[in-house]
Amino acid sequence: MFESLNEKLEKSFKILKGQGKITEINIAETLKEVRRSLLDADVNFKIAKDFTNRVKEKALGQEVLTAVKPGQLMVKIVHDELAQLMGGEAENINLQGEPAIILMAGLQGSGKTTFSGKLANRLKQKEKKNPLLVACDIYRPAAIDQLKVVGEQINVPVYAEPENKNAVKIAEAAIKHAKANGHDVVIVDTAGRLAIDQDMMDEIAAVKKAINPSEILFVVDSMTGQDAVNTAKAFNDLLNFDGVILTKLDGDTRGGAALSIREVVQKPIKFVGTGEKMEALDVFHPSRMADRILGMGDIVSLVEKAQEQFDEEEAKRLQKKLAKDQFSFNDFLKQIQQIKKMGNIKDLASMIPGVGKALKDVDIDDDAFKGIEAIIYSMTPAEREDPTLLSGSRRRRIADGSGTSIQEVNRLIKQFGETRKMMKMISGGGNMRGMMGKMK
Ligand code: GDP
Repeated sequence: MFESLNEKLEKSFKILKGQGKITEINIAETLKEVRRSLLDADVNFKIAKDFTNRVKEKALGQEVLTAVKPGQLMVKIVHDELAQLMGGEAENINLQGEPAIILMAGLQGSGKTTFSGKLANRLKQKEKKNPLLVACDIYRPAAIDQLKVVGEQINVPVYAEPENKNAVKIAEAAIKHAKANGHDVVIVDTAGRLAIDQDMMDEIAAVKKAINPSEILFVVDSMTGQDAVNTAKAFNDLLNFDGVILTKLDGDTRGGAALSIREVVQKPIKFVGTGEKMEALDVFHPSRMADRILGMGDIVSLVEKAQEQFDEEEAKRLQKKLAKDQFSFNDFLKQIQQIKKMGNIKDLASMIPGVGKALKDVDIDDDAFKGIEAIIYSMTPAEREDPTLLSGSRRRRIADGSGTSIQEVNRLIKQFGETRKMMKMISGGGNMRGMMGKMK
């Protein structure tokens, strides 16, 4: 995420290396490079210019502190200005109303349906809500099916009327249905087009008027850069939406949309989508995003993610098994699945300061676990529970079954044995839960 911007900004700070203090002359070059980095990231020209002007003013206005080098000071100033540009504080969505009504707007393919599912999932899991998803895309039958698939995945009901061609009527009926069935949040997924189109705009405006949503969220693909900003402006002029959702931030986005959207529409970015899975949703924290852009890592988000996936009951159960030396390949598999649920491994790693850059050219993704999983899946249930059964001939069979080599199987079994020994030692100390507790 934002790798190229990060690299360029870093280069621009290096220019100040060896300077004793900041002067108008010696920061001129740095500021030029900062501006160029922003433009390359597809930030709008005026925003980039205003940004560097603000940085310049701040930098020249700073008292000279001998303890802080000019380069470090610039990093801090740019960091704070980036955070300010993206919105200052994280903002919540408004869930008032019985039911609360959330309307999704955005172009086709921006990620509305996926995000509707992610949000429903989050509200259900974290806020114990009982959401209803509503399919208001009356043009593409596939869109209704897609929302149904999403609903099934997260176990949230979907309201649809495949024969009805009136989006307003469907939305109204859905809200009646929600009231009658005890749903406290209704998430309305609407039709998108490939580009701004008057019919689509009229329709969503009519839906808004009819159902009076408590929150309108504009969903936009962050890969589309300045186009994203133009689309946001058109939708905001029409709908006066409440917040922006930036999707596909896990992709190779240059960052322009994330950096410019708020300044242009004066609405906060509330969530970011970081993958296709239902869990790949993060609250948008401007300051933490600025950390990431500057390669400072994002330990806070990483810890929060770990906490979200951390299951206290499961930890207790594991601890008992560890103490009794019963930790099995099945438990191991579960642990891998938990890690995978946290999202793309490389993205996770990039939240650790310094690690992101080190891994820039290393290819790691979920596939990193594929071989291990294949090997474990090729074991019989008895073998998974009791690794001592794994004789030479069984190992051969497992290698054949999983499409790996006997060496890989041996290596995994050996590593597993060592991990088990080490974990037993830790849990023998009796304090794994204590350790995890401290993370909170
Ligand atoms: P809609 O037409 O606005 O409803 O968009 P969809 O929800 O169908 O999303 C379009 C495509 O983008 C689908 O293939 C999604 O899986 C994918 N997608 C959505 N959000 C994300 C995201 O945050 N990251 C990635 N990598 N893909 C996403």
